[in-house]
Amino acid sequence: MSDYKIQLSERDSPSHWYNIAADLDKPFAAVLGGDGQPATADSLSAIFPDTLIEQEMATERWIEIPEPVRQIYQQWRPTPLHRAHRLEQLLETPAKTYYKNEGCSAAGSHKPNSAVPQAYYNKLAGRTRLTTETGAGQWGSSIAWAGQMFSLEVMIYMVNISYQQKPFRRSMMQTWGGQVVASPSELTAAGRDQLAKDPNTSGSLGIAISEAVEDAASRADSSYTLGSVLNHVLLHQTIIGQEAIKQFEIAGDYPDVIFAPCGGGSNFAGVAFPFLADKAAGKQVELIAVEPSSCPSLTRGHFAYDFGDTAGLTPMMLMYTLGHDFIPPGIHAGGLRYHGTAPQLAQLVERGLISAIAVDQIPTFEAGVLFAKAEGIIPAPESNHAIRAAIDEALRCKESGEQKTIFFNLSGHGHFDMLSYDRYFAGELENFDYPQAAIDEALAGLPQT
Ligand SMILES: *Cc1c(COP(=O)(O)O)cnc(C)c1O
Repeated sequence: MSDYKIQLSERDSPSHWYNIAADLDKPFAAVLGGDGQPATADSLSAIFPDTLIEQEMATERWIEIPEPVRQIYQQWRPTPLHRAHRLEQLLETPAKTYYKNEGCSAAGSHKPNSAVPQAYYNKLAGRTRLTTETGAGQWGSSIAWAGQMFSLEVMIYMVNISYQQKPFRRSMMQTWGGQVVASPSELTAAGRDQLAKDPNTSGSLGIAISEAVEDAASRADSSYTLGSVLNHVLLHQTIIGQEAIKQFEIAGDYPDVIFAPCGGGSNFAGVAFPFLADKAAGKQVELIAVEPSSCPSLTRGHFAYDFGDTAGLTPMMLMYTLGHDFIPPGIHAGGLRYHGTAPQLAQLVERGLISAIAVDQIPTFEAGVLFAKAEGIIPAPESNHAIRAAIDEALRCKESGEQKTIFFNLSGHGHFDMLSYDRYFAGELENFDYPQAAIDEALAGLPQT
């Protein structure tokens, strides 16, 4: 029997991030400013340091990971690649199933892969305070910790429903020195505006982004940070896929199909983009983003220019979107409740290089519980989406007798999500298909370009 866990040594850890923009026949569409013209570096400098703006627009293939960032990465990276032997036995599948465990970081997910370099570059640029939004609290806790490592103040706008549902994520951010408020809040014009419309709103990532952007733009000492969607975030996450490629080499195997959960798209892109380069070089590998059917941006959204936030403060990006004023239902995978998708990922889906599927909430928890029983690790509800898809594929292999190699990203552990598991055990969860009428309505609200 082959290994249970394929480890890379710290010395073999990748020294560069991989930039997919270098490897395309046709460049990605420009990001547009409020005037409908391509956004300039200048227009972004109110909220981002120059180094991150350069990475946002970079076209070189490899970007070196700074030494101080590599040193912090070494606290938990390289993360192990596991072979899920026990899950395979439980499913009685001939498929070989592997997963990368990104739950090993201090914050419990892949998000510190980008939080650490974002804090580092802001420190270098002389900023002393970071603002951000968080949904489930995974990003907020990652940036609170990363800010702490570089002595930066961190102000976090946390989507109200998660603020209520995930009090321990809030405590975690506070433990690392972060300041947390429920969004919408009274602290910003964008927040007050939403509260005036509906004082009991569950909030959304789009609204929280508006608040964090407004806050950062109004203070010279502050930068805005984002845990997904932007090119530089996807870039930082490519460390995952690069490690995985080396680990598959050690295992003497190669994936036929790769699944990762998809909210804004950062962990999916981090896993998939390095493999996409392999695919361009002739390898056969299918790359599939898995999203919730209650928030189906890639599978049912419009491919159009839209804002990244609700108030329309961000530049406009060409992506799959459910409309920037979309407020998703309060499903338990808080990290997947976003109206849009990373423009790079969306454009690759549109070009047919990457595919996407949507899964219902209840079957994702079924899959997560099955996985926990087999492999021990209790996954984040977001990760359960990829696990559902991987298990379905393994079961199809059981039917067909195919011995496919399946690989999925375990984007995080679920230790702070046990309330969601409790609701699932109590039979209180619902499946929620987003109604077509609401999707059509969103089209009417898209900006004209
Ligand atoms: C944030 C998060 C996600 C979704 O975000 P992406 O940018 O799509 O990766 C998925 N899983 C976990 C554990 C998360 O924290």
